[in-house]
Amino acid sequence: MPDLIDRFGRKHTYLRISVTDRCNLRCLYCMPEEGMVFMEQEKLLSYSQIIEVAASAAKLGIRKFRITGGEPLVRPGLEELIAGLSALPGVDDISLTTNGLLLAPQAAKLKQAGLKRVNISLDTMDSARFKFIARRGNLDKVWEGIEAAVEAGLNPIKLNCVLLKGINEDEIGRFLKLSMEQPMHIRFIEYMPIGHDDDGWRKHYLPLSRVLEEAARLGYELVQEEGPMGSGPSENWKIVGGAGSFGLIHPISEHFCKSCNRLRLTADGHIKPCLYWVDELNVKPALGSPEAMEQLFLKAMDIKPENHEMAALLAGDKQSHVPTERRMSQIGG
Ligand code: SAM
Ligand code: SF4
Repeated sequence: MPDLIDRFGRKHTYLRISVTDRCNLRCLYCMPEEGMVFMEQEKLLSYSQIIEVAASAAKLGIRKFRITGGEPLVRPGLEELIAGLSALPGVDDISLTTNGLLLAPQAAKLKQAGLKRVNISLDTMDSARFKFIARRGNLDKVWEGIEAAVEAGLNPIKLNCVLLKGINEDEIGRFLKLSMEQPMHIRFIEYMPIGHDDDGWRKHYLPLSRVLEEAARLGYELVQEEGPMGSGPSENWKIVGGAGSFGLIHPISEHFCKSCNRLRLTADGHIKPCLYWVDELNVKPALGSPEAMEQLFLKAMDIKPENHEMAALLAGDKQSHVPTERRMSQIGG
Protein backbone atom coordinates (compact mmCIF):
# COMPACT_ATOMS: atom_id res chain seq x y z
CA MET A 1 0.00 0.00 0.00
CA PRO A 2 1.35 3.48 -0.79
CA ASP A 3 1.93 5.89 2.08
CA LEU A 4 0.06 9.18 2.24
CA ILE A 5 2.87 11.46 1.11
CA ASP A 6 1.97 14.79 -0.45
CA ARG A 7 3.72 16.88 -3.14
CA PHE A 8 5.91 18.50 -0.50
CA GLY A 9 7.13 15.21 0.99
CA ARG A 10 4.98 15.35 4.11
CA LYS A 11 3.83 11.95 5.37
CA HIS A 12 0.32 11.84 6.82
CA THR A 13 -0.39 9.61 9.80
CA TYR A 14 -3.17 11.51 11.58
CA LEU A 15 -6.88 11.95 10.80
CA ARG A 16 -9.19 14.25 12.77
CA ILE A 17 -12.76 13.02 12.58
CA SER A 18 -15.64 15.38 13.27
CA VAL A 19 -18.83 13.58 14.30
CA THR A 20 -21.17 16.58 14.49
CA ASP A 21 -21.22 20.33 13.95
CA ARG A 22 -23.65 20.82 16.84
CA CYS A 23 -22.55 22.08 20.20
CA ASN A 24 -23.90 22.89 23.64
CA LEU A 25 -21.71 26.05 23.74
CA ARG A 26 -21.29 29.03 21.41
CA CYS A 27 -17.67 30.05 22.01
CA LEU A 28 -17.21 33.51 20.59
CA TYR A 29 -14.11 32.55 18.55
CA CYS A 30 -15.83 29.52 17.01
CA MET A 31 -19.52 30.19 16.31
CA PRO A 32 -21.92 33.11 16.18
CA GLU A 33 -24.18 33.41 19.22
CA GLU A 34 -27.37 33.09 17.17
CA GLY A 35 -28.35 31.95 13.74
CA MET A 36 -25.94 29.06 13.21
CA VAL A 37 -27.47 26.65 10.69
CA PHE A 38 -26.58 23.06 11.52
CA MET A 39 -26.13 20.13 9.15
CA GLU A 40 -29.23 18.01 8.64
CA GLN A 41 -28.93 14.80 10.65
CA GLU A 42 -29.37 12.60 7.58
CA LYS A 43 -26.36 14.27 5.95
CA LEU A 44 -24.01 13.12 8.72
CA LEU A 45 -21.93 10.01 8.17
CA SER A 46 -23.12 7.15 10.37
CA TYR A 47 -20.57 5.57 12.72
CA SER A 48 -20.24 2.55 10.44
CA GLN A 49 -19.58 4.84 7.47
CA ILE A 50 -16.93 6.73 9.45
CA ILE A 51 -15.28 3.41 10.35
CA GLU A 52 -15.31 2.46 6.67
CA VAL A 53 -13.53 5.70 5.74
CA ALA A 54 -11.11 5.27 8.65
CA ALA A 55 -10.32 1.70 7.58
CA SER A 56 -9.11 2.94 4.19
CA ALA A 57 -7.11 5.68 5.89
CA ALA A 58 -5.52 3.11 8.24
CA LYS A 59 -4.55 0.94 5.25
CA LEU A 60 -2.71 3.96 3.87
CA GLY A 61 -0.75 4.56 7.06
CA ILE A 62 -3.01 6.67 9.27
CA ARG A 63 -2.14 5.64 12.86
CA LYS A 64 -3.88 8.26 14.96
CA PHE A 65 -7.48 9.34 15.06
CA ARG A 66 -8.88 12.28 17.00
CA ILE A 67 -12.62 12.59 17.45
CA THR A 68 -13.90 16.13 17.47
CA GLY A 69 -16.84 18.31 16.45
CA GLY A 70 -18.81 20.62 17.18
CA GLU A 71 -19.05 18.99 20.54
CA PRO A 72 -18.52 15.25 19.95
CA LEU A 73 -20.16 14.23 23.23
CA VAL A 74 -23.55 15.60 22.14
CA ARG A 75 -23.71 12.76 19.62
CA PRO A 76 -25.02 9.64 21.38
CA GLY A 77 -23.17 6.33 21.49
CA LEU A 78 -19.66 7.61 20.77
CA GLU A 79 -18.24 4.47 22.40
CA GLU A 80 -19.49 2.50 19.41
CA LEU A 81 -17.30 4.58 17.08
CA ILE A 82 -14.32 4.40 19.42
CA ALA A 83 -14.57 0.62 19.67
CA GLY A 84 -14.78 0.35 15.86
CA LEU A 85 -11.74 2.59 15.34
CA SER A 86 -9.76 0.69 18.00
CA ALA A 87 -10.34 -2.56 16.17
CA LEU A 88 -8.70 -1.31 12.95
CA PRO A 89 -5.30 -2.84 12.25
CA GLY A 90 -2.32 -0.52 12.77
CA VAL A 91 -4.18 2.13 14.77
CA ASP A 92 -2.26 3.06 17.89
CA ASP A 93 -3.91 6.20 19.23
CA ILE A 94 -7.48 7.39 19.61
CA SER A 95 -8.11 10.70 21.31
CA LEU A 96 -10.98 13.12 21.80
CA THR A 97 -11.29 16.90 21.89
CA THR A 98 -14.22 18.07 24.00
CA ASN A 99 -15.49 21.08 25.88
CA GLY A 100 -15.82 18.72 28.86
CA LEU A 101 -19.40 19.56 29.83
CA LEU A 102 -20.73 16.06 29.18
CA LEU A 103 -17.53 14.18 29.94
CA ALA A 104 -17.94 13.24 33.62
CA PRO A 105 -20.66 10.60 33.13
CA GLN A 106 -19.00 9.18 30.00
CA ALA A 107 -15.25 9.18 30.71
CA ALA A 108 -14.97 5.62 32.08
CA LYS A 109 -17.17 4.16 29.35
CA LEU A 110 -15.15 5.88 26.61
CA LYS A 111 -11.88 4.70 28.11
CA GLN A 112 -13.21 1.17 28.21
CA ALA A 113 -14.16 1.38 24.53
CA GLY A 114 -10.54 2.23 23.61
CA LEU A 115 -10.18 5.99 24.02
CA LYS A 116 -6.60 6.74 25.06
CA ARG A 117 -6.64 10.41 26.00
CA VAL A 118 -8.52 13.70 25.90
CA ASN A 119 -7.99 17.36 25.19
CA ILE A 120 -10.43 19.49 27.15
CA SER A 121 -11.02 23.11 26.21
CA LEU A 122 -10.56 25.54 29.08
CA ASP A 123 -10.11 29.19 28.15
CA THR A 124 -10.68 30.69 31.57
CA MET A 125 -10.78 29.75 35.24
CA ASP A 126 -13.30 32.48 36.02
CA SER A 127 -16.99 31.50 35.97
CA ALA A 128 -18.34 34.86 34.80
CA ARG A 129 -15.75 35.03 32.05
CA PHE A 130 -16.60 31.48 31.02
CA LYS A 131 -20.18 32.66 30.42
CA PHE A 132 -18.85 35.57 28.38
CA ILE A 133 -16.58 33.43 26.17
CA ALA A 134 -18.70 30.28 25.86
CA ARG A 135 -22.03 32.13 26.11
CA ARG A 136 -23.66 29.03 27.64
CA GLY A 137 -22.80 26.18 29.98
CA ASN A 138 -21.08 26.12 33.31
CA LEU A 139 -17.42 26.06 34.28
CA ASP A 140 -18.01 23.69 37.24
CA LYS A 141 -19.15 21.01 34.81
CA VAL A 142 -15.92 21.39 32.84
CA TRP A 143 -13.88 20.87 36.03
CA GLU A 144 -15.99 17.79 36.80
CA GLY A 145 -15.16 16.53 33.32
CA ILE A 146 -11.44 17.15 33.87
CA GLU A 147 -11.53 15.30 37.20
CA ALA A 148 -13.40 12.38 35.66
CA ALA A 149 -10.85 12.17 32.84
CA VAL A 150 -8.02 12.01 35.39
CA GLU A 151 -9.86 9.32 37.33
CA ALA A 152 -10.53 7.30 34.19
CA GLY A 153 -6.82 7.42 33.28
CA LEU A 154 -7.29 9.32 30.02
CA ASN A 155 -3.69 10.53 30.18
CA PRO A 156 -1.93 12.75 29.39
CA ILE A 157 -4.73 15.27 30.02
CA LYS A 158 -4.29 18.31 27.83
CA LEU A 159 -6.18 21.55 28.36
CA ASN A 160 -6.72 23.70 25.23
CA CYS A 161 -6.72 27.42 25.92
CA VAL A 162 -7.39 29.84 23.06
CA LEU A 163 -5.80 33.14 24.05
CA LEU A 164 -7.79 36.25 23.25
CA LYS A 165 -6.33 39.73 23.52
CA GLY A 166 -8.21 41.83 26.02
CA ILE A 167 -10.36 38.90 27.14
CA ASN A 168 -8.30 36.19 28.85
CA GLU A 169 -4.68 37.24 28.33
CA ASP A 170 -4.53 38.28 31.98
CA GLU A 171 -4.96 34.59 32.92
CA ILE A 172 -1.75 33.37 31.25
CA GLY A 173 0.01 33.37 34.64
CA ARG A 174 -2.81 31.37 36.20
CA PHE A 175 -2.58 28.72 33.49
CA LEU A 176 1.21 28.58 33.82
CA LYS A 177 0.76 28.06 37.56
CA LEU A 178 -1.68 25.22 36.86
CA SER A 179 1.00 23.56 34.71
CA MET A 180 3.37 23.91 37.69
CA GLU A 181 1.00 22.34 40.15
CA GLN A 182 -0.79 19.64 38.17
CA PRO A 183 0.57 16.92 35.89
CA MET A 184 -1.34 18.37 32.95
CA HIS A 185 -0.32 19.84 29.63
CA ILE A 186 -1.74 23.31 28.90
CA ARG A 187 -1.90 24.08 25.17
CA PHE A 188 -2.10 27.76 24.43
CA ILE A 189 -3.63 28.27 20.97
CA GLU A 190 -3.63 31.32 18.74
CA TYR A 191 -7.03 32.58 17.66
CA MET A 192 -7.49 31.60 13.99
CA PRO A 193 -9.74 33.22 11.38
CA ILE A 194 -11.38 29.99 10.22
CA GLY A 195 -14.58 30.64 8.28
CA HIS A 196 -14.57 34.24 9.44
CA ASP A 197 -12.18 37.06 8.85
CA ASP A 198 -13.84 39.72 10.93
CA ASP A 199 -13.01 42.63 13.16
CA GLY A 200 -13.44 40.43 16.24
CA TRP A 201 -10.56 38.27 15.09
CA ARG A 202 -8.30 41.22 14.29
CA LYS A 203 -9.13 42.84 17.60
CA HIS A 204 -8.64 39.76 19.78
CA TYR A 205 -5.82 37.90 18.01
CA LEU A 206 -2.86 37.55 20.39
CA PRO A 207 0.59 36.23 19.34
CA LEU A 208 1.77 33.54 21.72
CA SER A 209 5.11 35.21 22.34
CA ARG A 210 3.05 36.80 25.17
CA VAL A 211 3.12 33.49 27.05
CA LEU A 212 6.91 33.34 27.12
CA GLU A 213 7.07 37.03 28.10
CA GLU A 214 4.70 36.38 30.98
CA ALA A 215 6.68 33.33 32.13
CA ALA A 216 9.85 35.47 32.15
CA ARG A 217 8.06 38.25 34.03
CA LEU A 218 7.00 35.75 36.68
CA GLY A 219 10.58 34.54 37.02
CA TYR A 220 9.91 31.00 35.80
CA GLU A 221 12.87 29.07 34.46
CA LEU A 222 11.78 27.17 31.33
CA VAL A 223 13.15 24.19 29.47
CA GLN A 224 11.99 23.23 26.01
CA GLU A 225 10.98 19.62 25.70
CA GLU A 226 9.66 16.91 23.44
CA GLY A 227 5.91 17.08 23.87
CA PRO A 228 3.72 14.52 25.53
CA MET A 229 2.40 11.94 23.12
CA GLY A 230 0.79 13.42 20.04
CA SER A 231 1.93 16.98 20.53
CA GLY A 232 1.90 17.61 16.76
CA PRO A 233 2.59 21.24 15.89
CA SER A 234 2.96 22.29 19.50
CA GLU A 235 6.19 23.95 20.73
CA ASN A 236 6.53 22.45 24.19
CA TRP A 237 7.93 23.86 27.40
CA LYS A 238 8.16 22.94 31.03
CA ILE A 239 8.64 25.16 34.04
CA VAL A 240 11.62 23.78 35.92
CA GLY A 241 10.31 21.93 38.95
CA GLY A 242 6.72 21.87 37.64
CA ALA A 243 4.45 18.81 37.61
CA GLY A 244 3.07 19.48 34.13
CA SER A 245 4.07 21.29 30.97
CA PHE A 246 2.71 23.71 28.42
CA GLY A 247 2.70 24.07 24.65
CA LEU A 248 2.29 26.87 22.15
CA ILE A 249 0.27 26.35 18.98
CA HIS A 250 1.02 29.42 16.92
CA PRO A 251 -0.24 28.91 13.38
CA ILE A 252 -0.18 32.64 12.65
CA SER A 253 2.91 34.06 14.30
CA GLU A 254 5.00 31.01 13.30
CA HIS A 255 3.24 28.62 10.98
CA PHE A 256 4.03 24.93 11.25
CA CYS A 257 2.79 23.74 7.86
CA LYS A 258 6.17 22.21 6.97
CA SER A 259 5.56 19.42 9.45
CA CYS A 260 1.81 19.03 8.86
CA ASN A 261 0.89 15.35 9.06
CA ARG A 262 -2.89 15.63 9.32
CA LEU A 263 -6.08 15.32 7.35
CA ARG A 264 -9.60 16.10 8.46
CA LEU A 265 -12.94 14.39 7.87
CA THR A 266 -16.00 16.58 8.36
CA ALA A 267 -19.21 15.24 9.90
CA ASP A 268 -20.95 15.51 6.52
CA GLY A 269 -18.28 13.38 4.88
CA HIS A 270 -15.66 15.63 3.31
CA ILE A 271 -11.91 15.13 3.51
CA LYS A 272 -10.20 18.47 4.10
CA PRO A 273 -6.51 18.42 3.21
CA CYS A 274 -5.98 21.80 4.92
CA LEU A 275 -7.93 23.47 7.72
CA TYR A 276 -7.75 26.85 6.07
CA TRP A 277 -8.56 26.53 2.38
CA VAL A 278 -11.83 25.74 0.66
CA ASP A 279 -10.77 22.49 -1.06
CA GLU A 280 -12.45 19.29 0.08
CA LEU A 281 -13.31 15.85 -1.26
CA ASN A 282 -16.69 14.21 -0.76
CA VAL A 283 -16.34 10.63 0.51
CA LYS A 284 -19.98 9.65 0.02
CA PRO A 285 -19.66 8.53 -3.63
CA ALA A 286 -16.75 6.27 -2.58
CA LEU A 287 -18.63 4.48 0.22
CA GLY A 288 -18.85 0.75 -0.52
CA SER A 289 -15.62 0.77 -2.55
CA PRO A 290 -12.37 0.57 -0.56
CA GLU A 291 -10.39 1.17 -3.78
CA ALA A 292 -12.30 4.38 -4.54
CA MET A 293 -11.89 5.53 -0.93
CA GLU A 294 -8.16 4.94 -1.02
CA GLN A 295 -7.94 6.86 -4.30
CA LEU A 296 -9.71 9.75 -2.63
CA PHE A 297 -7.12 9.89 0.16
CA LEU A 298 -4.36 9.79 -2.46
CA LYS A 299 -6.09 12.63 -4.30
CA ALA A 300 -6.09 14.61 -1.06
CA MET A 301 -2.29 14.30 -1.14
CA ASP A 302 -2.24 15.69 -4.70
CA ILE A 303 -4.27 18.77 -3.84
CA LYS A 304 -2.90 19.53 -0.38
CA PRO A 305 -1.42 23.04 -0.46
CA GLU A 306 1.99 23.90 0.92
CA ASN A 307 0.68 26.21 3.63
CA HIS A 308 -2.18 28.34 4.89
CA GLU A 309 -2.01 32.13 4.71
CA MET A 310 -3.44 33.32 8.02
CA ALA A 311 -0.46 35.61 8.63
CA ALA A 312 -0.92 37.23 5.20
CA LEU A 313 -4.56 37.81 6.08
CA LEU A 314 -3.59 39.53 9.32
CA ALA A 315 -1.17 41.74 7.41
CA GLY A 316 -3.92 42.61 4.92
CA ASP A 317 -2.08 40.95 2.00
CA LYS A 318 -3.87 39.31 -0.91
CA GLN A 319 -4.61 35.57 -0.53
CA SER A 320 -3.35 33.19 -3.22
CA HIS A 321 -6.41 30.95 -3.00
CA VAL A 322 -9.95 30.79 -1.53
CA PRO A 323 -10.34 30.29 2.24
CA THR A 324 -13.02 27.89 3.55
CA GLU A 325 -16.42 29.20 4.55
CA ARG A 326 -16.78 26.51 7.20
CA ARG A 327 -16.53 27.66 10.78
CA MET A 328 -14.22 25.78 13.16
CA SER A 329 -17.22 23.89 14.58
CA GLN A 330 -17.99 22.60 11.06
CA ILE A 331 -14.48 21.25 10.60
CA GLY A 332 -13.38 20.13 14.05
CA GLY A 333 -10.39 22.30 14.86
N1 SAM B 1 -16.14 21.28 21.09
C1 SAM B 1 -14.87 20.72 21.31
C2 SAM B 1 -13.98 21.69 22.06
O1 SAM B 1 -14.29 22.85 22.13
O2 SAM B 1 -12.97 21.24 22.56
C3 SAM B 1 -14.19 20.22 20.05
C4 SAM B 1 -14.33 21.05 18.81
S1 SAM B 1 -13.48 22.60 18.84
C5 SAM B 1 -13.83 23.21 17.23
C6 SAM B 1 -11.79 22.07 18.75
C7 SAM B 1 -10.77 23.07 19.25
O3 SAM B 1 -10.77 24.17 18.37
C8 SAM B 1 -11.05 23.63 20.62
O4 SAM B 1 -9.90 23.49 21.44
C9 SAM B 1 -11.36 25.08 20.38
O5 SAM B 1 -10.94 25.89 21.45
C10 SAM B 1 -10.56 25.34 19.13
N2 SAM B 1 -11.05 26.48 18.34
C11 SAM B 1 -12.30 26.74 17.92
N3 SAM B 1 -12.35 27.87 17.19
C12 SAM B 1 -11.08 28.35 17.15
C13 SAM B 1 -10.46 29.47 16.55
N4 SAM B 1 -11.17 30.35 15.84
N5 SAM B 1 -9.13 29.63 16.71
C14 SAM B 1 -8.39 28.76 17.43
N6 SAM B 1 -8.91 27.65 18.00
C15 SAM B 1 -10.24 27.46 17.88
FE1 SF4 C 1 -18.48 24.32 20.72
FE2 SF4 C 1 -15.92 23.63 20.81
FE3 SF4 C 1 -16.77 25.54 19.14
FE4 SF4 C 1 -16.78 26.04 21.73
S1 SF4 C 1 -14.97 25.60 20.46
S2 SF4 C 1 -18.48 26.47 20.29
S3 SF4 C 1 -17.24 24.08 22.57
S4 SF4 C 1 -17.28 23.43 19.05
